[in-house]
Parts: sequence; structure tokens; C-alpha cells
Amino acid sequence: TPTIGVLALQGDVREHVAALESGGARAVTVRRPSELGDVDGLVLPGGESTTIDRLLRVFELRELLRERIAGGLPVYGSCAGMILLADRLLDGARDQQTLGGLDVTVRRNAFGRQVDSWEEHLPLAGITDGGPPTDAVFIRAPWVEEAGPGVQVLGRVGSGPAAGRIVAVRQGALLATAFHPEITGDDRVHRHFVAMVRQRD
Ligand code: GLN
Repeated sequence: TPTIGVLALQGDVREHVAALESGGARAVTVRRPSELGDVDGLVLPGGESTTIDRLLRVFELRELLRERIAGGLPVYGSCAGMILLADRLLDGARDQQTLGGLDVTVRRNAFGRQVDSWEEHLPLAGITDGGPPTDAVFIRAPWVEEAGPGVQVLGRVGSGPAAGRIVAVRQGALLATAFHPEITGDDRVHRHFVAMVRQRD
């Protein structure tokens, strides 16, 4: 059983811990640099990316986490976590930085320019294949404005003002969704991430 950390500086940590355990992992919270050493994979939860960015620096996790990502640590980022994984950010707050790793341009609060939240049943390539689409809940969510050639697009919004926008991606050991599977009781995205972590071991 892989041990997967949930970055516990801010955001919906408990929901991810529960979803990971339901998805077949041992889940632990990560707040200290030493705790990062013990995990086979990491989840960056939804919350507020500007706050998480600031706390990553305060808790001296930022550089260490960047090194682990560069070293191939599997990471799944949901919503604010997707923002943190993006190499390039549009509509970031002043001085906001990302960790990077994913060759994508992400627009923060992208849906918020039209609707604050959005919910839709989305098929996800390699994740919902052969089953029902997943209930995707977007809360002041980002979207991927542009993805590099090495990035696999797993899901796009199907209808409404954001139709066609990329909202789930994978590149190597990095997975990101603009929505929050941890709050819906559908553990397939987490299960997929647990399988990615197992493949890495
Ligand atoms: N709008 C938030 C941010 O900029 C993300 C929202 C979320 O994680 N639900 O970080």
C-alpha cells in the first residue's frame, strides 16, 4: 500500500485523506519538510492558491517540494492544487508564484468571470472509461488555457459558457483537475492517482 501525503497548510485536506483511503492508499498529512520525505505521492488540495503559496514559503516546503517534483514525485493537484502545479499562471494575485512542473498555462478563477461555480457530468479519459461520467464540481475554479505537447488532456467542459475548456490533465507523474472529486464520493480520480503512484514504485 503506497503512502500518499496531503499538503495540509490550507484547503480541503480531510476530504482528500478520506478519498485516498477509499482509493486504496495510506493517507498522511504533510506540514513539515521531514514529513515530505516519507511519502510516495502527494495531493495538493483545493483551497486558496495564494494562501498555500505563501504558507509553502513560511513552512520552508517550497524548494524541497520543487525538487521532489523535478525528481519525479507523483503529485495530484485539485483546483488550487492545479494552479500550484502550472508552469504559467494568468490572473494570479500580485507576487503569486506556482511550484510548476506541468507544462500548462492555467487561468485562475476562470469560470468566475461568468459563473462562480459549475457542475457537470464529465467523461475523463482513462479514468471513467466504461463507466458513468464523473460528477465534476467547479468552485471558483481555474481552467487550462493552453497545454504543451507533452500534456495529455483527460477532460474538457462539455457545455455552457466554458464549453471546450481543458479541466483535467496528466503529464508524467503529475495529474491535475480543475474540479473537486474529493467532495462527491466518487473515488475514481483518487484511485487513478493511487495507481500512478504504484506504477512509480
Ligand atoms: N480560486 C481559488 C484559487 O485561486 C481556487 C478555488 C478552489 O480551490 N476551489 O486558489
